[in-house]
Amino acid sequence: MGYLKGFMDFTRRDQDVRDPIDRIKNWEEYVIRFSDQDLKEQSSRCMDCGTPFCHTGAEWDGAYVGCPVNNFIPEWNELVSEENWEEALRRLEETNNFPEFTGRVCPAPCEGSCTLAINDDPVTIKSIENEIIERGFENNWVEVKVPSKRTGKRVAIVGSGPAGLAAADQLNEMGHHVTVYERDDRPGGLLMYGIPNMKLEKDTIERRINVMKESGIEFVCNTEIGVDVTRDELKRDYDSVIMCTGAQDPRDVPLENRDSSGIHFAMEYLTAATKALETDPKDTPITAEGKNVIVIGGGDTGADCVATALRQNAKRVVQFGKHPASPEERTDQNPWPEFPMTFKLDYGYKEGLEALGEDPRKYEILTQRFEKGKDGQVTALHTLNVEKVYENGKLVTKEIPGTEQVWEADLVLIAIGFLGPEQEVLEHFGLKTDERGRIWTVDGMRDYRTNEEGVYAAGDARRGQSLVVWAIREGREVADQVDQYLMSHKEKQIV
Ligand SMILES: Cc1cc2nc3c(=O)[nH]c(=O)nc-3n(C[C@H](O)[C@H](O)[C@H](O)COP(=O)(O)OP(=O)(O)OC[C@H]3O[C@@H](n4cnc5c(N)ncnc54)[C@H](O)[C@@H]3O)c2cc1C
Ligand code: SF4
Repeated sequence: MGYLKGFMDFTRRDQDVRDPIDRIKNWEEYVIRFSDQDLKEQSSRCMDCGTPFCHTGAEWDGAYVGCPVNNFIPEWNELVSEENWEEALRRLEETNNFPEFTGRVCPAPCEGSCTLAINDDPVTIKSIENEIIERGFENNWVEVKVPSKRTGKRVAIVGSGPAGLAAADQLNEMGHHVTVYERDDRPGGLLMYGIPNMKLEKDTIERRINVMKESGIEFVCNTEIGVDVTRDELKRDYDSVIMCTGAQDPRDVPLENRDSSGIHFAMEYLTAATKALETDPKDTPITAEGKNVIVIGGGDTGADCVATALRQNAKRVVQFGKHPASPEERTDQNPWPEFPMTFKLDYGYKEGLEALGEDPRKYEILTQRFEKGKDGQVTALHTLNVEKVYENGKLVTKEIPGTEQVWEADLVLIAIGFLGPEQEVLEHFGLKTDERGRIWTVDGMRDYRTNEEGVYAAGDARRGQSLVVWAIREGREVADQVDQYLMSHKEKQIV
């Protein structure tokens, strides 16, 4: 605790953001870094409380609270308030392989469980985390960690999202030879081709991948396991395999005229938009330019579609959600230290409000059917309003008769979540799955062994669509278990 009265003397300040009208003219990150003075004041708001919840990542009434990677938050807050940035970086690196990703895109469950948040605004933990790592890179404190001794064991990781990357980083540091296979053209998983550039610039991912390559990790892109390389080949060449293939099988809306052109899954659209940034943003096969865009699905993926469509100069963007708007304040069912489920004006919504004059979100609305023009192109959506009511003691969604509406549409983006992992590669490996199609692992959430000897699983493929910070935690934990497995067997394991 650098300054005893920090939490009394300073109020919370969030990082500034670029003006919404200006920022939708390009694809650069929209958040502006804190000044030195802000950092000193904001970090000194941390009370270094006796029982900090911010770093627990522990289960609380069926939900998790605090930081899933157990960052030593009070400790690095104190170091930052004393301007001891290098030591702050060393503490942060002990628990988080990629603070530059979480510092930008984590929803910060740590802040929801900060003790100050009981009766005040929480410490700006996430922004401080980001600044520590950025200063680390600027001052060349981020080290290339080539192990002094190699074990001779070889591990293949399938999938280069945050789970695969964290596992690779840990296992390489332990001295094992690690190869990461990725079917896409660049590593990063959803960091690269899901989360848009304005939240996480792709240079930031490449900067980290370069450090990992220099540390000795091999990346093999444009290679789909199960198609280009078989399970038997991996078994022949490696001592263990970790499946980090994500959970990207999209949920569809099988309604009348779904086969119209102009209806796409969110991930097709977002991936194409990011790939186009490599050459010309206009070079995308799916553009929102001049179109009436409707996003089906009220979640964060939908919000990223809204922000992307605005940057492509959409005529209008509307996002349908079937739930009501979140409350302004926590409810009794959502007390501290749980993650606060309160109303937020996310970056894309603020942009929509300022650029097009309306919050894109429309609540409690359900699509009934699509309308198709003579040329096969989608022209409109028909919807009904819905409400949540209790029936036989259960909360159910009911349609409200007489509330039909027709919405003009030229581009429809489906963002209603994911069914789970794509099954083909799991079948190819003979992996057992659970009732939700996720890779089955041995009893309990912290055992990463699959039903196949020497084959482990981590990240969204195992836990279902989640967060970057959870993927990092799973990557770290699976690495520990694979290391124990490799080091307890002298001979090659999975031949
Ligand atoms: C649009 C969108 C926005 C999001 N925004 C946020 C956010 O702001 N903050 C946050 O915390 N979380 C966010 N998430 C969730 C987060 O990105 C994921 O939880 C996280 O990336 C999961 O990491 P992972 O490593 O398990 O899988 P993924 O990131 O999905 O990576 C899996 C990788 O495996 C590869 N792969 C699959 N099969 C094969 C195969 N057979 N051979 C080779 N490679 C294969 C895939 O190509 C992919 O690159 C977002 C998700 C989406 C869809
Ligand atoms: S990783 Fe996320 S939860 Fe953990 S300290 Fe950073 S912002 Fe908070």
